[in-house]
Amino acid sequence: MTTYNPVSPEFLAEVEAAIGKENVFTDPDKLDMYKTDEEYDPRRFRVPEAVVRPGNAEEIAAIVKLCNKYMVPITVRSGGTSLADGAIAVCGGIILLMERLNKIIEMNTEGMYVIAEAGVRTVDIQKMANDAGFLYAGDPCSAESCMIGANLATNAGGNKAVRYGVTRNQVYGLEMVTPEGEIVEVGARLKKCSTGYCMEQLVMGSEGTLGIITKVTLKLQPMPPYRFDVLAVFEDPHMALSLVAKINKAGINPTSIEYMDNSYVRATADYIEFKGAPHYETGIYVIITVETFTEEELDTKMEQLSDLCEEAGAVDVLEADDRIWAMRRNCQESISLVSKVSLTDDVVVPVDKIASTIKEVMHIGEKYPFPIPVKINAHIGDGNLHIVLCKCDMTDEDWEKYVHEFHEEVYAYAYAQGGRLAGEHGIGAKKLAYMEEFTPAGELALMRKIKRAWDPNNILNPGKVFNA
Ligand SMILES: Cc1cc2nc3c(=O)[nH]c(=O)nc-3n(C[C@H](O)[C@H](O)[C@H](O)COP(=O)(O)OP(=O)(O)OC[C@H]3O[C@@H](n4cnc5c(N)ncnc54)[C@H](O)[C@@H]3O)c2cc1C
Repeated sequence: MTTYNPVSPEFLAEVEAAIGKENVFTDPDKLDMYKTDEEYDPRRFRVPEAVVRPGNAEEIAAIVKLCNKYMVPITVRSGGTSLADGAIAVCGGIILLMERLNKIIEMNTEGMYVIAEAGVRTVDIQKMANDAGFLYAGDPCSAESCMIGANLATNAGGNKAVRYGVTRNQVYGLEMVTPEGEIVEVGARLKKCSTGYCMEQLVMGSEGTLGIITKVTLKLQPMPPYRFDVLAVFEDPHMALSLVAKINKAGINPTSIEYMDNSYVRATADYIEFKGAPHYETGIYVIITVETFTEEELDTKMEQLSDLCEEAGAVDVLEADDRIWAMRRNCQESISLVSKVSLTDDVVVPVDKIASTIKEVMHIGEKYPFPIPVKINAHIGDGNLHIVLCKCDMTDEDWEKYVHEFHEEVYAYAYAQGGRLAGEHGIGAKKLAYMEEFTPAGELALMRKIKRAWDPNNILNPGKVFNA
């Protein structure tokens, strides 16, 4: 176990000298604002000892060096939308805010790339690309609130991953501050490269444990001019889930295939106050987006898709307008209508196992006395399911016990299918114990060696992902 020092007046004085007194906060009200991210269970909150707001990579490097000198841990925070307790300073120390690194440095439509500082909101990059007729294909549901550097740090997924892949597939390279306070650039704006280790890919998904990402170079895609969004409504989850394999085999190459069980259909319709949501009482939604470059291709694929939905047993096939997408985007927020404390899981399995996994998860859920049945929404086109448990008025003891037993069963099943704990939200502090339990020993040992070599003082985001 690493022993850290408390934040001292000497440390703060040096940080103030490096980044300006006005960017260092210690007053209790301010600190209290950063005790949690999207975690609502107060037992998991942790008030940091100080909050710092650097303005560029050089200032971040100076802070990191001081943290090594004084043995003070750093937790980086961007939008604070982590669902894995990733932005909570679980070992104390400082919270480092990325909000001042908020400039889009260059958008190059000839070379089809964007260079941006890490604290730019994801939605601003999406909008800028769209306005120029291009697509930035990273699209987490939290795009309005999260920041691009954190999307890289968590390797965020989202609604376009079926066709375009996840955040790591949208990135050429990045600049980062290493755990020892050096500024380095990794990756390059190349279509192919076999020149040593692929460092940028190692940093992506490392959740702030291997470096603080300060600048990113992102790929742009040509924007397909034709698009349709279909809502296929089912009453039987197994029929709904059978659609994925049919679409994949037909070569439709959709942008998204999203799933909402009926509890989500009701909760999100209520949350966004969508009166008259189709099949509110019993419907299970599968939303499919297809984008093409010609009208003929669009027509052909629409016909194909409509046949496949019918074949799979859809009770209705409609156009998925903006309100249906708003329902999908508000799945996570809608939980607050049901329970103050909840837990969102992020298990990922091979795409051909998604139907059997959802079936098994529902079956496991029925064994436990959770106040309301397990809720499921999923990026079914990429094998990633969000299983939501709601605490409601359950006692703390029962909640801990049943959640743990439920997880043991679900994770063991997922790993037996070739799955993993997290498809896009990361491990954070929340799933660290399960990461230790379920990760193959050889793989975990390699991760520990890398972390120790890069961050000998365990300064960056300790208490996250695995025990360093
Ligand atoms: C309503 C809602 C919907 C969501 N939908 C999706 C979704 O569709 N897909 C998805 O993948 N996730 C989703 N998430 C989870 C979350 O939005 C993502 O994990 C996102 O990438 C986090 O971004 P953030 O800016 O909020 O980062 P934070 O929460 O501030 O940080 C997340 C983690 O990254 C680290 N970090 C932050 N910035 C940096 C940096 N510059 N360098 C190094 N490490 C850093 C932090 O220390 C922390 O461990 C959702 C969350 C919510 C609340």
